[in-house]
Amino acid sequence: MKPRTQQNIRSNHPFAGRRAVVIGGSIAGLVAARVLADHFDEVDVIERDGIPDDLREARKGAPQARHLHGLLARGERILNDLFPGFTEDLIRDGAVAYDFGVGLAWHHLGAWKPRFETGVQTVCMTRPLLEAHVRRRTFALPGVRRLDEREVVELSASPDRSRITGVVVRRRGAPGGVEELRADLVVDASGRGSRAPAWLEALGYGRPDESTIQVRVGYAGRQYRPRDPAELPWTSLYVLGSPSDSRRFGCIAPVEGGRWIVVLAGLFGDHPPADPDGFLEFARGLPNDAVYRALLTAEPLTDVATYKFPAHLRRHYERMARMPEGFAVLGDALASFNPVYGQGMTSACLQALALGAALEEQRRRAGPGAIAGLARRYHAAAAKAVDLPWQMSTGEDLAYPETEGRRPRLQPILRWYTGMLHRAAQVDREVYVRFVRAMHMLDGPEALLDPGLFLRVLRAGRSASAPAVAAAAPARRQPAGA
Ligand SMILES: Cc1cc2nc3c(=O)[nH]c(=O)nc-3n(C[C@H](O)[C@H](O)[C@H](O)COP(=O)(O)OP(=O)(O)OC[C@H]3O[C@@H](n4cnc5c(N)ncnc54)[C@H](O)[C@@H]3O)c2cc1C
Repeated sequence: MKPRTQQNIRSNHPFAGRRAVVIGGSIAGLVAARVLADHFDEVDVIERDGIPDDLREARKGAPQARHLHGLLARGERILNDLFPGFTEDLIRDGAVAYDFGVGLAWHHLGAWKPRFETGVQTVCMTRPLLEAHVRRRTFALPGVRRLDEREVVELSASPDRSRITGVVVRRRGAPGGVEELRADLVVDASGRGSRAPAWLEALGYGRPDESTIQVRVGYAGRQYRPRDPAELPWTSLYVLGSPSDSRRFGCIAPVEGGRWIVVLAGLFGDHPPADPDGFLEFARGLPNDAVYRALLTAEPLTDVATYKFPAHLRRHYERMARMPEGFAVLGDALASFNPVYGQGMTSACLQALALGAALEEQRRRAGPGAIAGLARRYHAAAAKAVDLPWQMSTGEDLAYPETEGRRPRLQPILRWYTGMLHRAAQVDREVYVRFVRAMHMLDGPEALLDPGLFLRVLRAGRSASAPAVAAAAPARRQPAGA
């Protein structure tokens, strides 16, 4: 690896003259590197894949990139804070932005959601385009270095194993070529398949506890070219049933190049197939046939890609009795969620902010350059950041009787209230806006529990009985197929 010259190294950072290493150069690794660049002179991002600058296709290390990647508004805002002008750049490259309430026709629980301006913007693009932009902006930062086609095979530790001191890296295709890269902080962002639990066990720390909620989701995605998108009364289409009548969901989202990405998914083994006829047939079996009818009018551009996702998974590093210093875990390696809820990238952004805040606090309390205590401080903060998306997505999935996992004691009450909230959101605009803001993680769950809203929800939720709601038409224009 090319050594750095002193001229390249800035010395005004809290950890001046020191280096952080990030394992994995996907979304979580990149946003972590962006935050670390404010605190360390050198940040090295080690990625197994060789990734072209103009990434346009899914790559081996992130096969999920063939599927729709919705970016929640909170994640988009964080990316714009980290990389000013981020959304404008995406839109210049063809991403499609719209108001969530205006552009999206959403069929949920047997009814169309109201259509009106909510003030919550959504931006749609392919995952490779999004990742290419995050990469470009991250590696433009001084001190951040990309080390592609290298695999971290082990952590290195101090002789007493109390501290992680770097990583052992194997260069892909270079026989026997392993080398050690020293670092003051190692951040593992290597995804759900992270080997950190095994690495920590080998160092004598044991493995973190894990929480899993089994949902057995099957995904199938395909790109289409719409024939006449301007004629359609929606920009994006989303169909989702209720635990009592369906295990399926379908979504059409516009992406760069005038294309659609279509995703069909099913829970508990009701999986969409990879053959084109079966794909269409699955769409016909959604709780509403709007997606199916839209697909009949569009031209397929790709094969059908499938993906299986067994379970929500959360690793509780914050609960470990002992933890080595100089080590942090972030992104899917820490928590991975049923992708139907589109939370993974936003959760990674929230954890990156938690890392930045922990570094700030570390400096205040322990002084510049002191790393002792950071691992515990960060993992406690990251666990808090994960709580919100975890409770939201697992809470929805635990409503299905087939879901395997521990149900919180308050689950029946929460389900009852969520059911009322969903129904109230069909008929009460204020409730819908609050619901959309919470879903996009712009507000915490407390915003859905304030007493004023609670009364509205009870009133509107009671009056909007499910069959009456099912007959209601969207407020703006009738979505195709509705
Ligand atoms: C089907 C599907 C659909 C999804 N849809 C959405 C969505 O709509 N919205 C959303 O926000 N999220 C979605 N997600 C989640 C999203 O993909 C992830 O949350 C996001 O990519 C962040 O993950 P990550 O960076 O932690 O890990 P990953 O994206 O899995 O990346 C891990 C990286 O680490 C590299 N790596 C692994 N091991 C090593 C090693 N030893 N050494 C060096 N490099 C290594 C890999 O090559 C890879 O680049 C979806 C996920 C799936 C599976």
